[in-house]
Amino acid sequence: MRLAERVESLPPYLFVEISRKISERKARGEDIISFGIGDPDIPTPPHIIERLCREAHVPANHRYPESEGLPELRKTIVAWYLRRFGVTLDPETEVAPLIGSKEGIAHIALCLLNPGDVALVTNPGYPVYAIGTNLVGGVPYYLLISPQNNFLPELDNIPVNILEKARILWLNYPNNPTGAVADLKFFNKAVEFAKKHDICICHDFPYSEVAFDGYTPVSFLQAEGAKDVGIEFHSLSKTYNMTGWRIGMAVGNATVINALKTMKSNIDSGIPQAIQYAAIEALNGPQDCIKEHNAIYQQRRDLIVDTLNKMGLVAIPPKASLYVWAKVPYGYTSVEFATDLLDKVGVVVIPGIGYGRNGECYVRLSLTIADASLLKGLSRMAQWHDSKNILRPKKV
Ligand SMILES: *Cc1c(COP(=O)(O)O)cnc(C)c1O
Repeated sequence: MRLAERVESLPPYLFVEISRKISERKARGEDIISFGIGDPDIPTPPHIIERLCREAHVPANHRYPESEGLPELRKTIVAWYLRRFGVTLDPETEVAPLIGSKEGIAHIALCLLNPGDVALVTNPGYPVYAIGTNLVGGVPYYLLISPQNNFLPELDNIPVNILEKARILWLNYPNNPTGAVADLKFFNKAVEFAKKHDICICHDFPYSEVAFDGYTPVSFLQAEGAKDVGIEFHSLSKTYNMTGWRIGMAVGNATVINALKTMKSNIDSGIPQAIQYAAIEALNGPQDCIKEHNAIYQQRRDLIVDTLNKMGLVAIPPKASLYVWAKVPYGYTSVEFATDLLDKVGVVVIPGIGYGRNGECYVRLSLTIADASLLKGLSRMAQWHDSKNILRPKKV
């Protein structure tokens, strides 16, 4: 069978590869502990599940869903945005429900990029921004983020010939994989930049509610004039432990949202309605679960950072997101370190190179691991460390 070139050029999705490796090991009877994928281990809160079950019995919800999303869902999203961020939105024109935000993130490239157009993508970063760009014949231009620039892209240093072709700027704060955050000042600057160069900002914001130490993430749409130049992607996955239900949304600039809705109406037929009602329940219902979960994640974060620092690996405790971004030991590449941990002590961490070239020398550890496994995993890592001379000479 002959396949399209775009399939051939598609890299295997990072987590699919890692899941395959873990399954192989487990099949051999090995006890593997994974700090891999960011997929909440805590179940969806019961009141959300109960609503889903009730709605599953309603015949109207057995039929094709409204492809633009239930009006009630769009109104609920608008009310939540106002409550949470003080941002006003029009439920008719500025909200597009999504089958999980990953879907929208990939499909937005169809709406904004012609072949040869450039998308500005932070590196390291969530892989879908660049893959979505490549799939439509666009070209990712990487903006390196590192501790030196507080993991914020340096918008003033982009070459003019790139700016001329740039149509999208991808941002993601709180950031996956680095755990970095952005403030309103940065978003204001980004809006100014986007206006000046006629670029659409796509802010990916799935960790808006996953934050620690009293920190509250800000929305890109809180910036002055943000709606003129961009949209924000959201997900219920990480906020309400709903990764398995697949629901999220894009909100913001009406022209871009309309393009996304039009594109999607030709590709999918909407989100199963019972799941839309579950999302309504999640956004309108009691929000105590968010605080409770964040307290659990914060404790895990501290245990992980503590262990890593004792091993001599630099890891700064993140203010938000589900990840600890840690330097690998001196003399190791990120893949060598991750592979050695898996081979020697059966612990999975994600090599930073999987998030782009600038992720090299780092690994990502997810906080979505049950406490008992977490402690076991950390003690194995300490064991690994004790058995090594980590001051191997640096390779050239
Ligand atoms: C988890 C995640 C998503 C995807 O969320 P879904 O709504 O489950 O598709 C998008 N972006 C980033 C940065 C994520 O970490």
